[in-house]
Amino acid sequence: MAVFDSPYFDDHEQVAHCHDPASGLRAVIAIHSSVLGPALGGCRMWPYASQQEAVDDVLRLSRGMTFKAAVAGLDLGGGKSVIIGHAERDKSRALLLAMGRFVESLGGRYHVAEDVGMTVADMDVMGRATRFVHGSSEDTGNPAPVTAYGVFVGLRAAVRHRLGRDELKGLTVSVQGVGSVGAHLCSRLAKAGAKIVAADLNRAAAERMASELGARTVAPEAIHRVPADVFAPCALGGVLDDRTVEELAAPIVAGSANNQLREDRHGALLQDRGILYAPDYVINAGGLIDVARKGRDRDRESVFAATARIADTLTAIFRRSDAEGRPTNIIADRMARARLGRASAERAAA
Ligand code: NAD
Repeated sequence: MAVFDSPYFDDHEQVAHCHDPASGLRAVIAIHSSVLGPALGGCRMWPYASQQEAVDDVLRLSRGMTFKAAVAGLDLGGGKSVIIGHAERDKSRALLLAMGRFVESLGGRYHVAEDVGMTVADMDVMGRATRFVHGSSEDTGNPAPVTAYGVFVGLRAAVRHRLGRDELKGLTVSVQGVGSVGAHLCSRLAKAGAKIVAADLNRAAAERMASELGARTVAPEAIHRVPADVFAPCALGGVLDDRTVEELAAPIVAGSANNQLREDRHGALLQDRGILYAPDYVINAGGLIDVARKGRDRDRESVFAATARIADTLTAIFRRSDAEGRPTNIIADRMARARLGRASAERAAA
């Protein structure tokens, strides 16, 4: 089991393998950085084909959380956890409680929230075993509507920058994955007058977009090839690779999925093709901004106001990318690393 040798290790502070034989829990908790504060990141439940796949995924996601918090200006570190298993078949109350106990055992270095395969109700159960849970029903609840709002304002900023238009009316947006975030995004897009093309492995979810919002539906494998003004990946990671970037038929990529680029170099490939890429962890930070408010006296309006600033951050990244001739994902990484570097220096000086 390679952790230190994983291509995604990137100086992680701590990686904990968790096993509870009674419930069958097998999980990995990764803390990439606590330089800016306690690590906060979702728990994903997924039927990984191998342990290595689970470890690689949690390491990539956890680093992404460090960068996401850094660029969003939050005083939080980056972490993530994955449970190996099928959310519908293998999830049980005992398994969630066991996971909660492992989170608690880290003493607040890692705070858990929901991610793919987890629900608000699952956070309620974990919350019986740990204080370090965000997004439960007593707390901030489902972050997807705020995430979708951030993607919407970010997508608009990308349209303004790349197409020189303030309005989305009449533009076509192809949405890959219309689950929690994708569906909320589609309803905002429809209200703004955009035409939607939707695809989902779950056909019923795509059909719902057709009947409720007048979306056109296409097969999941064809969605990135649909001629559109914006391609919005809102399913899983790794969708932008050598083949899909070549086949993309939209001048903008702006969606909620984490880790959209198969490898960092695919950001450069997008730039070479003249496609404007809104870096994933910048545009999808709304959910983190939402769940980070736990225990604070902040109303929902201030959360939406903070999330709206994603548009300004992205515009700054797009301009710097143009000025320096570097891909947007590299500019975002540099912004994150600069903030982390300053915080580390302050820590060392204190
Ligand atoms: P979700 O599970 O509710 O929705 C994902 C949808 O994508 C599902 O309907 C699934 O059937 C579909 N899907 C999976 N693979 C697909 C494929 N190859 N083609 C088409 N559809 C496919 O998850 P979500 O909460 O909406 O999150 C979506 C993405 O956004 C994830 O990558 C997640 O990590 C990221 N994200 C979510 C939040 C949040 O607040 N929920 C915050 C930040 C980032």
